[in-house]
Amino acid sequence: TATPVLLNVNGIEVIYNHVILVLKGVSMTVPEGSIVALLGGNGAGKTTTLRAVSNLLRGERGEVTKGSIELRGERIEALSPAELVQRGVVQVMEGRHCFGHLTIEENLLTGAYTRRDSKAAIAETLEKVYTYFPRLKTRRHSQAAYTSGGEQQMCAIGRALMANPKMVLLDEPSMGLAPQIVEEVFSIVKDLNAREKVTFLLAEQNTNMALRYADYGYILENGRIVMDGAAKALAENEDVKEFYLGMG
Ligand code: ATP
Repeated sequence: TATPVLLNVNGIEVIYNHVILVLKGVSMTVPEGSIVALLGGNGAGKTTTLRAVSNLLRGERGEVTKGSIELRGERIEALSPAELVQRGVVQVMEGRHCFGHLTIEENLLTGAYTRRDSKAAIAETLEKVYTYFPRLKTRRHSQAAYTSGGEQQMCAIGRALMANPKMVLLDEPSMGLAPQIVEEVFSIVKDLNAREKVTFLLAEQNTNMALRYADYGYILENGRIVMDGAAKALAENEDVKEFYLGMG
C-alpha cells in the first residue's frame, strides 16, 4: 500500500504587497514519514513556500491568491500558525530565532506553549530532545546568545520538537554553519525522522547535503518547480549536477 500523504500543496500562487508575484503555481506532495527537500537558489521562493504552509505570510504582507494546501486531505489555509502547531505543523525559521536572553532550556520550553498535556509529559519531551541533542543538554543553562551558531540551530529545532510535531518545516538549517556542523544537524534530523517518525520539509540552498539526507526533492526556480524526483536520482542528474551541486 502507498504511504499516506501528509501535506499536499496544489498550485499555489503567492503575491507580496498585492503586486509582486513570487510563487507561480507551486505543487508538492510530502508523504507521511518522509524527508522532502525544497531546493533552489537565492530568491527562488523556498522561504515563501514554507511560510505559505505555516500561514506566516501575512506579517510579510504576502498572501496565497490561488491554489490550496491540505494536511491529510483537509484544507489548512485558514488556520492560524498556532492552530497549525496544534495540528502538528511547526516551522523553524531561517536565521534560527532563538531568544538570545533566555537560556537554552528556557528556549526549548517556549516550544511547548501550545501543549495542553501535563508538565510531566513536557519534561519527558525535554529529556527526549536532550537525547537527540546532547550538546543542548550540556549547554542547557547557557544564555542562547552566547552559544555557537550550530547550538542555536539545534536549539531552534529542539524548540520545534517540544511541540510534539508530526511535521517540521525547516528553513535553511545549514545557513552560516561549518560543513561538519551541518552534517551533525542533518544526521540528527535523519535520526528523528527514522526513530520518532517526524516528517520534514526542508528548504535548502545546500543541494548536495540536502539530497544526501532527503528521500525526495523539488527544485524551485523563479517561483516554479522545474524538476522533482527521488533524492538519489536528482543527485545523479546531469542538469542538477551542473546547476545546483556547487551551491550552498
Ligand atoms: P532565500 O534563500 O534568499 O531565502 P528563497 O528561495 O527562500 O531565497 P524567498 O525568500 O521565498 O526565496 O523570496 C522569493 C522572492 O520573493 C524574492 O524575489 C524576494 O525578494 C521576494 N520577497 C520575499 N519576501 C518578500 C516581501 N516581504 N515583500 C516583497 N517581496 C518579497
